[in-house]
Amino acid sequence: MHIDKYEEAIMNCRFCFMCRHLSAIGNVRFTEVDTPRIRAAMLYGLRTGTNSFDDEDFVDALYRQDLSACCVHHCVNHYDENGLALAARADVVEAGKAPEAVRKLAAKLEKSVGWKAEGKGDVAWFLDETTASDKAAVAAAKRLFSAAKVSPKVITGGCIGKALKVLGYLPEAKAAAERFAAFLKDEGVKTLVVSNPAAVNALKQDYPEFGVKLPCEVKSMAGFVMQAKVKFSKPAGEVYALADDFIRNYQGCACMDKLLAALKAVNKPFGTNDEETYNCGEGAVVLDKLHPELVKALAEYVAARADDPKKDRIVVGSVYTKKALVKYGRLNAVTLDELAASCL
Ligand code: SF4
Repeated sequence: MHIDKYEEAIMNCRFCFMCRHLSAIGNVRFTEVDTPRIRAAMLYGLRTGTNSFDDEDFVDALYRQDLSACCVHHCVNHYDENGLALAARADVVEAGKAPEAVRKLAAKLEKSVGWKAEGKGDVAWFLDETTASDKAAVAAAKRLFSAAKVSPKVITGGCIGKALKVLGYLPEAKAAAERFAAFLKDEGVKTLVVSNPAAVNALKQDYPEFGVKLPCEVKSMAGFVMQAKVKFSKPAGEVYALADDFIRNYQGCACMDKLLAALKAVNKPFGTNDEETYNCGEGAVVLDKLHPELVKALAEYVAARADDPKKDRIVVGSVYTKKALVKYGRLNAVTLDELAASCL
């Protein structure tokens, strides 16, 4: 089983409650089942035969996880309880026990695999569906490209494998990755600038895991802007920048902090600690489609921690998080790209 690769997490997390406060879903449902300890205990039970994927409550708990990777990031031993959860989903799918809503969503994602390119040159911008759905974020990215004096080829289209992987559909995710890599090769892309941190993570971590080689260098928008030495004429001022799940916890990348420093942002501490995720399930990629009620609860949890919800400028890494915080939390949230564009 896929979970066998996560022996350390199963054996250690099942007795540990140290990171329970970082379980975003546990924090809004007030349930122990939504913590790494109980999930690991349930998966231990699966191996010893006292638990089974026939138990719908067990499978539902696996598909409720926010997958922020906060716990593994802050665990003193970095036991990969997040990887364990993803592996468990893959085992659920292989056992044919995926809930109907998950099966339907995966089928839709698989159908969406396919892209088109507009423009010329070997520098391309991957405008994923989530980012494309937010006009302000798209306009900000265009302004940043213009400031960098780059006119990229624009690639739009569907799933590049990330959401399928997160749902546990590994062969389908790998097939999507292979198709996207082949598409980029056919288009002659040498540099791919990517707005969505989930897509950056797919290209930089998932693709090598699948053994899929890309024909190009991948850059986050923040990394591209920094490397292009874009000049900013206005300081960003006071903001509350929320650490992104993929950028901080999955990749350990400092690009968000570096760009905030270049924008002369005065980053104020948010909430009661800087360890939690405030990204409303960004790591779970499609939690808003499976469990909008949980995304609402997560956004309300974040809003309750804002000093001045209407005025505080909350800066986030993804359109996914921005939309959740604006829609359900009524917060003044902008993406990092929007903040950067406002400083030009
Ligand atoms: S990830 Fe680390 S802190 Fe969290 S339950 Fe596992 S061992 Fe404990």
